[in-house]
Amino acid sequence: MDAAVTPKVATVKLLINGEFVESRSSEWHDVLNPATQEVLARVPFATQDELDAAVAAAREAFKTWRKVPIQTRARVFLKYQQLIRENLKELAAILTAEHGKTLPDAEGGILRGVEVVEHASGIGNLQLGEYASTVAGGIDTHTILEPLGVCAGITPFNFPAMIPLWQFPMAIATGNTFVLKPSEHDPMVVMRLAELALEAGIPPGVLNIVHGGPDIVNGICDHPDIQAISFVGSTRVGKHVYDRAIVTGKRVQCGVGAKNHAVVMPDASKEQSLGAIAGAAFGAAGQRCMAISVAVLVGEAQKWIPDLVAIARKMKVSAGTVDGADLGPLISAAAKARVEGLIESGGKEGAKVELDGTKPQIEGFEKGNFVGPTVFSGVKPGMSVYDQEIFGPVLSIVSVDDLDEAIAFINANPNGNGTAIFTSSGAAARQFQDEIKVGQVGINLPVPVPVSMFTFTGSRASSMGDLGPYGKQAVLFFTQTKTVISRWFDDDVAHPMNTTISMK
Ligand code: NAD
Repeated sequence: MDAAVTPKVATVKLLINGEFVESRSSEWHDVLNPATQEVLARVPFATQDELDAAVAAAREAFKTWRKVPIQTRARVFLKYQQLIRENLKELAAILTAEHGKTLPDAEGGILRGVEVVEHASGIGNLQLGEYASTVAGGIDTHTILEPLGVCAGITPFNFPAMIPLWQFPMAIATGNTFVLKPSEHDPMVVMRLAELALEAGIPPGVLNIVHGGPDIVNGICDHPDIQAISFVGSTRVGKHVYDRAIVTGKRVQCGVGAKNHAVVMPDASKEQSLGAIAGAAFGAAGQRCMAISVAVLVGEAQKWIPDLVAIARKMKVSAGTVDGADLGPLISAAAKARVEGLIESGGKEGAKVELDGTKPQIEGFEKGNFVGPTVFSGVKPGMSVYDQEIFGPVLSIVSVDDLDEAIAFINANPNGNGTAIFTSSGAAARQFQDEIKVGQVGINLPVPVPVSMFTFTGSRASSMGDLGPYGKQAVLFFTQTKTVISRWFDDDVAHPMNTTISMK
């Protein structure tokens, strides 16, 4: 095509010190619509100088932002949640175009992020210290939850709006400034969220955004002026970020990979349980860290495999913009090839293919990265489909005799992000809740992601660092507790001359 008539592809900007600026990088990647392969934009892999500029802006802004009254900070987030709600349809359309998930799913994810923004607007009640009067004669003690300084976030592709919203609102509401590095696969929706954040009143330099891949992430890990990093992504990268950042003295939290099991007891409500499991396994094409990827059928519930397969077979695979679509494409051609390879290995390694969703024909979207719902039964540890996080619409079925065996099976898996039990027995649910070693437990609910006043509490190999990304624990993660012990002298009252606290 003649250069003069080549359609100009938009570039994704950096946000530095309140300005949306074009990167000077020589490395650019295409942001593709995964349903069509249309190039939506080009995203830069920012340079070290650009990262330095973003961090410098954040460091400078911290000097004033940390002194802004807490209620003024809170009001920014009140306004921000309103602006996101007013622009929800536009945000969801951008998200669906670059990620592929269905429009209702995109809206749902953004709204889960908005809950955290709403929570941040209550910071006046959350960032309270403690006070004890007269801990000794004339001596009082109080604590202050002080912001840390420049904090950073590194986010995955699968929730390009929600996970950034897990991070920067709580960091900024607590008085920090922030540098965000979104996923290079779908960086556009967060740029619109950033425009709205500035409109809501977040001052220049308080929120900054740089794009890129491994180099920029390593730059964040090594940067001496960054105090804390909140990472969400794969276990492989999370371990790297954790180890690299911790040696430079940073506070780090990493929410990473998963393998989430749902136990189905024979006394469960059959239709509702199987429907919920299918939605949790195949929705968003299985690209959720809380997706159910293993169904553990107990005793007589093993007879329900054909019913589960029938539900999976009926699910509609299409572009996220198509009405009635249950699941869209995978994020990239590489992700599709990886998922197809794992599906192939499942059959070869001895699992029974109950439903093969590879190579679906999607009219009008022939170039999309589609894989349909896929179900294996007879799955065992040691098979790749069990041992690996597939991150695709693939459900493995495991059969066990009783609840004790189901619990032991799940506890033997190193991951601990989420799990669920479907049962009508309170006793079974209570035993499961007590004995399961997984951070988030659903009882007749397949995707137990806590609302914003709690905290996302994935555990064991699914999490690194002691505190989760939002809710109560985020206030502690993004602040340092300082304890002040004070005594005031009154010249009219005789005090002991030494500093020993008298307990009499
Ligand atoms: P990913 O690890 O590939 O990418 C995450 C971030 O790390 C991105 O910003 C990416 O640019 C960066 N990155 C990628 N490779 C890197 C490297 N070699 N060195 C340094 N940085 C690198 O993850 P993803 O594919 O975007 O997301 C899917 C993963 O995220 C899944 O494993 C999923 O379970 C996990 N996840 C976990 C949670 C949770 O809360 N536990 C939530 C969502 C997603």
